[in-house]
Amino acid sequence: MAVRRVHAMGDRQLSERLQGLGTTIFAEMSALAVRTGAVNLGQGFPDTDGPMEIRDVAIAAIRDGHNQYAPGIGVPELRQAVSAHQQRFYDLSFDPDTEVLVTAGATEAITATLLALVDPGDEVVVLEPYYDSYVAAIAMAGGVRRPVTLRPPDFRLDLDALRAAVTPRTKLLLVNSPHNPTGTVLTDDELSAVAAVAIEHDLLVVTDEVYEHLAFDETVHRPLATYDGMRDRTITISSAGKTFSLTGWKVGWVCASPDLVGAVNTAKQFMTFTSGAPLQPAIAYGLGLGDDYFTALRAKLQAKRDRLCDGLASVGFEVFVPQGTYFVTTDIRPVGGTDGVEFCLSLPARCGVVAVPHQVFYDDVETGRPLVRWAFCKRDDVLDEAVDRLTRGLRP
Ligand code: PMP
Ligand code: GLN
Repeated sequence: MAVRRVHAMGDRQLSERLQGLGTTIFAEMSALAVRTGAVNLGQGFPDTDGPMEIRDVAIAAIRDGHNQYAPGIGVPELRQAVSAHQQRFYDLSFDPDTEVLVTAGATEAITATLLALVDPGDEVVVLEPYYDSYVAAIAMAGGVRRPVTLRPPDFRLDLDALRAAVTPRTKLLLVNSPHNPTGTVLTDDELSAVAAVAIEHDLLVVTDEVYEHLAFDETVHRPLATYDGMRDRTITISSAGKTFSLTGWKVGWVCASPDLVGAVNTAKQFMTFTSGAPLQPAIAYGLGLGDDYFTALRAKLQAKRDRLCDGLASVGFEVFVPQGTYFVTTDIRPVGGTDGVEFCLSLPARCGVVAVPHQVFYDDVETGRPLVRWAFCKRDDVLDEAVDRLTRGLRP
């Protein structure tokens, strides 16, 4: 892939497992934004920090001596807060001492989970477009990915394709809802089908729910662990980054049965062992905020979604309005584009805007080729500036 920078020397030394992974698209595109002074609608991070009251708890924790190693599984307050959050929002009960594991963001949770559960040659069924760290984590575990493609215009889960992707070598299903980059929130029917496939083939399911509080309109996020027969075969992963607009803190967690949490911790303890000691009590505090906090977050991001979707439509893109997440996907063909990578690489010079091409998230590159992702978790004036620049720069 043209955007994946590889270094000849390093590439020769790189282990076979990591060949071809290159540099993550998010680092690549943010570096391009900094280099060119472009408006960055590429990497998904808010440009306004999360609640001061949460940050104040972290500052107090640093002042008050929470600066040495936290317990490997996480500080008790945070494990209790995660457990209480699952109970409060989803009526799911997890023992904070044996069924919750704190991680360095969802990224570590995903990698530790795959390293813990996947043997070389095991197959992992994954939705594509996929979040890029899934590919790397499957590769590090020596697993084989079996993508199930979500296709425009609806990006719904094709249940026949899901069933067809399962083979005798399948070890687990890796699901993400609300889904990055499409914004799909899996429906009750889709989740029931995932559960049925998992039960029929006796598979584990890893579910990445980092955008759990960012489902818009009437859409409801339902954790897979709530489905009959799923609680003890599901590893639920989430993190504080999106829920509290604190993506740099990298505080995440896993909820699962004690044996699965134990397996994941076997890998995790040799990755970071522990991280973010003073941040953990602050996220515990955040998870306990009133419902109004979570409602307001969703309303704020929904308004930003609408603002950017309207703007992109007015520029001439075909816009696929997302049901959740930080991201909207467009087809670039109505504005004269054909290849998303070429389009995104030329966009800073043409318009002073950075976006992310979908095709780096697919094995089925052709499906992703004309699609481009834009992040709307930015200040309104930044979104407006991006739309102005696109309007001026893409005018025929
Ligand atoms: N999963 C998805 C779907 C994501 O979009 C992201 C990016 N935040 C992550 C995992 C990683 O989360 P974290 O920053 O908590 O590691
Ligand atoms: N989740 C963010 C995105 O999809 C990026 C996180 C990262 O840079 N690894 O844009």
